[in-house]
Amino acid sequence: MRFEIPAIPAAMIRRLNEHGYQAYVVGGCVRDALLKREPHDWDICTNAKPEEVIACFPDKNVAKTGLQHGTVMVIDAGEGYEITTFRTDGAYSDHRHPDEVIFVSELREDLARRDFTINAMAYHPDEGIMDFYGGQQDLANGVLRCVGVPEERFQEDGLRILRALRFAARFDFPIEEETGKAMHKCAYLLEHIAAERIFAELKGFLVGKGVGKLLIEYRDIFAQILPPLGKMFDFEQHNPHHCYDVWRHTATAVDHIAPELPLRLTMLFHDCGKPDTISMDENGVGHFHRHGARSVELTEQMLTQLRCDNKLRDQVLLQVKYHDLPLPQTASEGRKFMNKMGEEGALFSLEVHRADYMGQAPDRRPEKLAHYEQAKAVLNQLIEEEACFSLKDLAVKGRDLIDQGFRPGPPLGQILNRLLEAVLDGTCPNEQAALLSLAKEWENS
Ligand code: ATP
Ligand code: MG
Repeated sequence: MRFEIPAIPAAMIRRLNEHGYQAYVVGGCVRDALLKREPHDWDICTNAKPEEVIACFPDKNVAKTGLQHGTVMVIDAGEGYEITTFRTDGAYSDHRHPDEVIFVSELREDLARRDFTINAMAYHPDEGIMDFYGGQQDLANGVLRCVGVPEERFQEDGLRILRALRFAARFDFPIEEETGKAMHKCAYLLEHIAAERIFAELKGFLVGKGVGKLLIEYRDIFAQILPPLGKMFDFEQHNPHHCYDVWRHTATAVDHIAPELPLRLTMLFHDCGKPDTISMDENGVGHFHRHGARSVELTEQMLTQLRCDNKLRDQVLLQVKYHDLPLPQTASEGRKFMNKMGEEGALFSLEVHRADYMGQAPDRRPEKLAHYEQAKAVLNQLIEEEACFSLKDLAVKGRDLIDQGFRPGPPLGQILNRLLEAVLDGTCPNEQAALLSLAKEWENS
């Protein structure tokens, strides 16, 4: 199997070869090129030592920040290319970072330290694919498998458990059986991994394919990284709207929303407050009064633990909070809905509702989906009309009221809010003359 390497990394390989060193592109780029996907970076490995690599590129800028791992970053045309000396890793006493890296002379040894067979291939423009661990076959069969003994590989670096889930979801590959068993067995090692690293992998996983079935099959791993999720497992809902326990419902809902991070995170967390809020009525039906608020609390805890940035956190919390809000069916309801959530939030919320319905009992789904379609039409119509749903869209400003003789001060704000209410309700059009005369009417009554 042959593929084209872009000119710059190809020239770097040639340069190293001319100086008598071996050099290959390696890892993710080889995998992606074989899958006919565009690699996002071309990493190079070589038997040249870092100082020798630097000496090969006297005409280029190099960044030496990765030097302790044997990586020299050579800059060309404003882009950095990582050139890493063949290495193995020493012992991993913290289950994450090797205590030392040891340079080796053989490509085969360098490939052996890599996590999965599909990530453990190298390529040379003349020599072709270097594949000692069955990576091409696993790629062709669509299987994610550790290089070497899975349990040992996860013991070395617990993060690989989440990398496995991320790659399985990115390529929609099943996880090979022994690799999967070792993931369950080693899940406890994730305790040692930094939150930022965990979140980075979780994000990559969530926007992948077939996420729902992985959430179910590897649920112990998700409870390990985010314990509140564990309460949802096997939690029966005792409610005619539901045919699944809370976790299965969650996994199904995740699968039914577009692979965008805020949406996927929302579906993952939206019902996490249910187990804490269940009450049973006299007919044995389960209710989850105010579970949205409890979900918000737990979601906030989990996103804080993951060191989520504020913008994403607030976006998700807003969606979780309102995931149960009835969808608007009329223009007035639509304006109020957009007032609460903003335009983008309202459109997101529509999809959150739809995904939620898709995870519920099928018998009432047609009715719920018709509701969704109607809400979508209502919101799109309002957006097209550039309807007013917040103070900034109101056709009257504080200045206009003052010009009409209203006295400046806090009551002005109250008047504006009442006018906005009237517009949202549909009792007054968003037109300046109508709004001013309404304000005067209130003033005189
Ligand atoms: P992506 O497209 O997500 O960047 P990638 O395969 O390039 O995927 P990187 O994290 O960029 O993944 O790592 C580059 C290569 O380094 C991997 O393909 C793999 O060979 C190796 N690697 C990275 N992290 C690990 C790890 N934790 N354990 C073992 N090998 C690893
Ligand atoms: Mg990469």
